[in-house]
Amino acid sequence: MGNDTAISIKNLVKNYNGTEAVNNISFDIKQGEFFGFLGPNGAGKTSTINSITGIANFNSGKIEVFGNDVVKDYRKARSYIGLAPQEFDFDPFLAVFETLVYQGGYYGIPKKVCAKRASALMKIFGLYEKRKSSIKSLSGGLKRRLIIARALIHKPKILILDEPTAGVDVELRHYLWDFLRKLNKDGTTIFLTTHYIEEAEKLCGRVCILHKGKILEIDDKRKLMKRFAKSQITIGLKDALRKIPGNIKQYNYKIDGKNLVFLEDKIKVNEILKNINKNKIKIVDVNIESSSLEDIFISMVRKNG
Ligand code: ADP
Repeated sequence: MGNDTAISIKNLVKNYNGTEAVNNISFDIKQGEFFGFLGPNGAGKTSTINSITGIANFNSGKIEVFGNDVVKDYRKARSYIGLAPQEFDFDPFLAVFETLVYQGGYYGIPKKVCAKRASALMKIFGLYEKRKSSIKSLSGGLKRRLIIARALIHKPKILILDEPTAGVDVELRHYLWDFLRKLNKDGTTIFLTTHYIEEAEKLCGRVCILHKGKILEIDDKRKLMKRFAKSQITIGLKDALRKIPGNIKQYNYKIDGKNLVFLEDKIKVNEILKNINKNKIKIVDVNIESSSLEDIFISMVRKNG
């Protein structure tokens, strides 16, 4: 394993009393990646994160973080990771500032340094005014900001985010997206779990699609979209067709009133138009809509039951 591998997962299996949550998955995440871990509810995403971060024991397999075994070298491996879990797990009796400073203490960071970093993080996340407020008094959005700030107090090389924008309003979501982009650009490896596909489409380089504890696909987002994307090509005709020309039948088409609609690779548009022209059919309009990562994800999950 090279030094540039941030997380290496080999043959990970995680069961809960007979329920196979993660079923023999393997993949590596390179340093500097913005990696998207996608899957419907129950796919095994949180179980995988819990295995990486030592929250849960796994049944078999091996996980390394920058070459450190997460079981044998737990503290070292864990020190590289900042985790923002999906469920808020704060001490409700602590104030915002204390929450950040205490967290730094777990990583052996001197109190003075923690206090400085906590102030900086509170400013970035718009929490400074609330520094003395108890967690109990914070809104859901502010708690979400705090959980991400807390994950960053020890300046981790890897940030793991489990559904970071669940229940977050549009404005904060965009703020977080910009922040994460910048953090990644500045060198932090990001492992993002989401079932919100638009988020992955906007942020991630490589994505892994997990379903029923197994990897369905893992690839560069653009390559994945190229491999699976079909476009909907709608060709508006002057007159409705009475008969389908022979050279059109080879495509995946349907007739919708005066429109001929194709579900095909975008590259075929030219060829389709030429074939229509050969039949002297008058075209009045052409419209192409590309499928999104979400379309691909949904069709992949459906196909696999
Ligand atoms: P995801 O994060 O993708 O929603 P999870 O890892 O939470 O998926 O869950 C994967 C599977 O493991 C699901 O079938 C879930 O019901 C089961 N599971 C998760 N946690 C537990 C647990 N503590 N006890 C029993 N089963 C669990």
